[in-house]
Amino acid sequence: MASLDFDVIVVGGGVAGAACAALLAAQNRRVAVVDARRPSFQAPDGDYDPRVVAISPGSRRVLQATGGWNRVDPARLAPYQRMEVHSASLQVAFAAVEHGLDELGWIAEIPALQAGLWEALENTERVQLFAPGVWERVELARNLVRLQLANGPQLRAGLAVAADGARSRLRQLAGIEVDEWHYNQKALIGPITTERANTGLAWQRFTEHGPLALLPLPDGRSSIVWSQPAARSDRLRELAPEDFIAEINRHQDSPLGDVTAVGTLHTLPLVRRRARRLVQDRLVLLGDAARSVHPLAGQGLNLGLTDAAALAEVLEDWTGDDPALALKRYQRWRLSQSTLIGGGIHAINEVVRAPAGLGRHVLGLSFGIADRLWPLRERFVAQACGIDSDSPRLARTAPTLSSRKAGAAAAGR
Ligand SMILES: Cc1cc2nc3c(=O)[nH]c(=O)nc-3n(C[C@H](O)[C@H](O)[C@H](O)COP(=O)(O)OP(=O)(O)OC[C@H]3O[C@@H](n4cnc5c(N)ncnc54)[C@H](O)[C@@H]3O)c2cc1C
Repeated sequence: MASLDFDVIVVGGGVAGAACAALLAAQNRRVAVVDARRPSFQAPDGDYDPRVVAISPGSRRVLQATGGWNRVDPARLAPYQRMEVHSASLQVAFAAVEHGLDELGWIAEIPALQAGLWEALENTERVQLFAPGVWERVELARNLVRLQLANGPQLRAGLAVAADGARSRLRQLAGIEVDEWHYNQKALIGPITTERANTGLAWQRFTEHGPLALLPLPDGRSSIVWSQPAARSDRLRELAPEDFIAEINRHQDSPLGDVTAVGTLHTLPLVRRRARRLVQDRLVLLGDAARSVHPLAGQGLNLGLTDAAALAEVLEDWTGDDPALALKRYQRWRLSQSTLIGGGIHAINEVVRAPAGLGRHVLGLSFGIADRLWPLRERFVAQACGIDSDSPRLARTAPTLSSRKAGAAAAGR
């Protein structure tokens, strides 16, 4: 069967892979996107998809440049301007306005973000989508990647991006080793209603069973993420609504008041993974294929979008010759950041599991100190918002005429 030539093949069109494809296409590159599934987003009737994520201001800028963000219905996005994190009896609180920001982040449904990105990709001439696309063979030569689609053409490119998620098959075939930590925890997720509407507060408490977050939804409800021992999460999911409400109210004391209703709950197992390398010849890892982190800091997808912007930045001047130096820079940059952030999140999760609540007191103490030390707070906000000096240019700068043009080009407008 025929072969098709591209500059880059992106395997996996989740939010991170699709964003990467759009940014590379905006550099005038021919991009193939291969995904096992063609995403379709049917907005749930009067409800939200339970898979919601906190998107940082830096990530939003990256998404704006892809042309995907503006295709998401604003009525499905919940901006938040305030954040509180509690442990034991101490807390640290942030307000966007104190840091010169309009928002600290946005809560968005993953399928809605993905649909916006795919719509942008579908409208970009330089992008060809292969979905559902099953590939059966990959050949990583020194200067070329060949990907054989089942019952389809062979795709050839000077670079392949593995964005095929936490259990990346491409990563495995490339022989890249992964460190794994199984937490024996599951995140319990779903919507809840509180006495007072949530109009822009991201609230978290480190409870005796694990971190419980209440994140705003656009209709004034909140989405919870409660990470706990797996068996307990499963048990709580099965409780009658009134019993679950009583249980969660024993553990949450947010300014939103008591929980009064609960929607359908789901559980997701939590595993931290970290690829030891991000590059193998002409293959580069991105998003959850590169690492997955505990959700307690809401950073997983933000790291993946930072990868996408960082990869586009190091490849800015790539003309098709050997990109080894650029990829080396990408690997150094992204490995060190994910080790730092992933390791920090992991350490917090371990500390708070110390017996007799000791860890939660230690963490609370550090929150109390951070709450009073302005430079520390500024640094924390810049890092959590993805706009610190280590962030890619695209994330640090508000969309300018040229990046808006790039976004429009990516969206085919
Ligand atoms: C409970 C919970 C809460 C979270 N909260 C947050 C948060 O608040 N903020 C945040 O930033 N992150 C959060 N995360 C993390 C975030 O959800 C992930 O980091 C992110 O969704 C990963 O995106 P991705 O595009 O890298 O991978 P994925 O979304 O897994 O996409 C991978 C894509 O590859 C495709 N694929 C897979 N295998 C193949 C194959 N063999 N061939 C072709 N295609 C393939 C799949 O179909 C899919 O489209 C949370 C995670 C959990 C579990």
